[in-house]
Parts: sequence; C-alpha cells; structure tokens
Amino acid sequence: MGYGSRAEIARLGKVGGIVLDGVDLTDVSRRIPVTPDLAERMVIDGRPVDPPPGLVLILNKPLGMTCSHKEDGALVYDVLPDRWRRRDPSISTIGRLDKQTSGLLLLTDDGDLLHRVISPKRHVAKVYHATLARPLVGTEGALFASGTLVLEGEDKPLAPAVLEPITATEARLTVTEGRYHQVRRMFAAVGNHVEALHRERLGGLALPADLEPGAWRRATEAEVAAIF
Ligand code: URA
Repeated sequence: MGYGSRAEIARLGKVGGIVLDGVDLTDVSRRIPVTPDLAERMVIDGRPVDPPPGLVLILNKPLGMTCSHKEDGALVYDVLPDRWRRRDPSISTIGRLDKQTSGLLLLTDDGDLLHRVISPKRHVAKVYHATLARPLVGTEGALFASGTLVLEGEDKPLAPAVLEPITATEARLTVTEGRYHQVRRMFAAVGNHVEALHRERLGGLALPADLEPGAWRRATEAEVAAIF
C-alpha cells in the first residue's frame, strides 16, 4: 500500500506507529487480512490506514493539470497523498481530460471498472459544457446527431451525439465515445472553436456540487453504480 519497505514498517511497528484494534502492533510479521473495515481498525502514524484496493475517486479536475503519470508540470495525481503513487495496483484516471478541460474525472485502481467505463460498447454518456468562440449557426445539432461526421485525420464516422444549445456561444454536448480531443475537434469540424470545456457528467453520475476545483473524495457505491 506504499507505506514503506518491510524494514521501514518493522521499525515503525517497534516504536508504536501501528495500532490495530487499539493495541500496538509490534509483530509486523503478523498477517492482517485487508478487509473493507480495516481503515476503522488500523492507525498508522496517527492516521487511519489508507483504503484497501478497490478505490474509486471523484476529482473536480482544475484547469492546467495533465492526466499523465510522466509529463512535466502539474499532474492530476499530485492532488493525491504521495504514498498513493506507490500503491499496487496503481491508480489511473478513467479516460482522460485535456490539460485545459475541467470537471468530473474519476480515478481508480480497479482495472475492470476502468474498462467498463471507457469501453465503447457500454456507451457511457459523457456530458460536456462547451463555451464557444463563435455563435452556433443552428445546423450543428443535426450533423452531430447524424452519425456521419468524420473528424479530420480519421475514417470512421462518430457515433451520434446530442447538442443542446444553452446560449448562442454555450452548449451542452453528450457523446458516448472518447476519441482524442473529441469535443474540440467536433466543434472545429463545424468551423467553431472551443474556448472552455468542462465535464459535468459521466452516465448518471454528475460532478458533485460540493467539490471545488482541485478537490476530490472517494466515490460511494451508489455513485459508482450511477455511472452505468
Ligand atoms: N473532448 C475534448 O476535446 N477534450 C476533453 O478533455 C474531453 C473531451
């Protein structure tokens, strides 16, 4: 879980840094099953132990952070506790948002869940709020809904998408695929330009209103179920 090497953990146990069910755990060779209630029973260095594998996190991604493990600059993983970089299985974003896109981003260490959310076969709706450089002309919605739009550099038409104009230069767009820079490229294909992009929803899961940009928390089971 990224707390340290065996030797480091043994040292921590010896100095009373690990407490299980209210009792110092000095014999660190003892096998402790990783159960869902472990965080209520075990304290490490004065804090509840990190949650076991099966983590699903909801982040309100701020602008300027990259969904990558390696790039220079601010990464979405920087908002998580340092120790979580060393967790096994590792935590990844479920799909990606561009550096200059904000909003709902899920992270997980559950590979099955990740694939279920991003699988094109599942058609999980991704809902974006786009602010445009130029007014909508009125024909975009029919084209996006037609299932015939082919993005530059691609051959396969996009699946139908739903456009809901909000003002002349703002719209909500629901897509079921996750192609590279998809929303920006869709508006570029109709001669417009996305100035700001924010993801509001994945399936039935909306970005929780209490999460400020940059804030994250664990998703509840009901929230994960709502995605599908
Ligand atoms: N489409 C984009 O163009 N960018 C995103 O970040 C997500 C969807």
